[in-house]
Amino acid sequence: MLAFTTIDRVNASKRSVVERIKDFKEVYNLFDNIKAKEQADRCINCGDPYCHNKCPLHNIIPAWLKQVSEDNLELAFDISNETSPFPEILGRICPQDKLCEGDCSLNETHGAIAIGAIEVYISETGFAKGLKPKFSDKKIGKKVAIIGSGPAGLSCATFLLRNGVNVDVYERANKAGGLLTYGIPGFKLDKNRIERRVKFLEQAGANFILNCEIGKNKSIKELVDKYDAIFIGIGAKKGRKAGIEGEDKPNVHLSMEFLTKVQKKLFNEEVENYIDVKAKNVVVIGGGDTAMDCVRTAIREGAKSVKCLYRRDEKNMPGSKKEVVNAKEEGVEFVFNVSPKKIVDNGIVLEKTTLTKADENGRKKVEIIPNSEYIQNADVIIFALGFEQEKPAFVNELNLELDKYNGIKVNKNYQTSNKKVFAGGDSVRGANLAVTATYDGREAAFGIVKFLEV
Ligand code: SF4
Repeated sequence: MLAFTTIDRVNASKRSVVERIKDFKEVYNLFDNIKAKEQADRCINCGDPYCHNKCPLHNIIPAWLKQVSEDNLELAFDISNETSPFPEILGRICPQDKLCEGDCSLNETHGAIAIGAIEVYISETGFAKGLKPKFSDKKIGKKVAIIGSGPAGLSCATFLLRNGVNVDVYERANKAGGLLTYGIPGFKLDKNRIERRVKFLEQAGANFILNCEIGKNKSIKELVDKYDAIFIGIGAKKGRKAGIEGEDKPNVHLSMEFLTKVQKKLFNEEVENYIDVKAKNVVVIGGGDTAMDCVRTAIREGAKSVKCLYRRDEKNMPGSKKEVVNAKEEGVEFVFNVSPKKIVDNGIVLEKTTLTKADENGRKKVEIIPNSEYIQNADVIIFALGFEQEKPAFVNELNLELDKYNGIKVNKNYQTSNKKVFAGGDSVRGANLAVTATYDGREAAFGIVKFLEV
């Protein structure tokens, strides 16, 4: 360890731009053994590891870095899989610069440890050598229904199975994975990674019931009667527009609608009203990771030009820096400090903005510059302005207490106002990261186990 004085941080290498924009295959290559070992060896093993504290799962990062640096892959695999239900997935999609790597003690001075890339290396190399995540052989004779198979649902299923609780996972789509499968593009996360984890869960005893919407194909009452507990992890997928004139025009779309339709096409699933951007001028409004997913998807779909419009400056973008870099490399043009005013026949009317001085939380407000409007020509306009919680009828039927944003209220054990029902992820806290939903699913599983063992 401590090799940071002689070895610089390196990122995982990427496929060439010319190659990668022709397909939806992953952009990053895996670290090889030498690179992973060298990079792990840079860790200074701080007494109070900020990376561990900033990781929403509180992964024991320095412990698995040490094992990689000493060539103990099997132990690194076990430690990494102990706190995370799918490290190779989160290592690929987490905005590390805002989380573990952002708080690495070396970040400011020498470059953070390449935590995400090493996390991916551990699991992928482990799988290639035949290592598998461990599950419990003992069963406690209880069964839980999980509604939704996104990150919260899959995480909850993993930790319930590890504690000897059987699970049935209900998913309304054709495939399991929720946002991981249909929302995050393949160039960030190959869909086989999710299928592999689903297979591990099936081997451990989970049943996946696909194409089954609770309240439509099966009543919530059946679930309440049949299971010892229920976990709700239905996410927050309702997209937001800007509330401006003209946004109901047929060429204006929501980010998740666009991303899901493209992914369904790639799966050869039936797609109604496909959003065809080929040879069109596309603008995406928003500056987060979902906006980056949309612009990069539009490039791969053959758009003539792709612009990302964001109302703050580049420094204040909320998403992962590496995704912005990737988008720029792939030909996306960024227009900062602009705000949409209305949609017109040939595009979108924008107003220029400026930022105020930082408030007490360090956040700068956006102010419109008077008389600064202009038209940005566009054939297709996509809003990527965040998500809201949906409120399916079964939530009412269960009589669950909600907060003012329609989030399901839970106690510290993730138990709702209905004692048999637990919830976590975006359906509780509002739109957030996949890794926070994963954390909620894990902690809810522990809450459910406590409830079942009473
Ligand atoms: Fe970092 Fe995300 Fe992995 Fe945690 S789960 S160590 S935040 S990449």
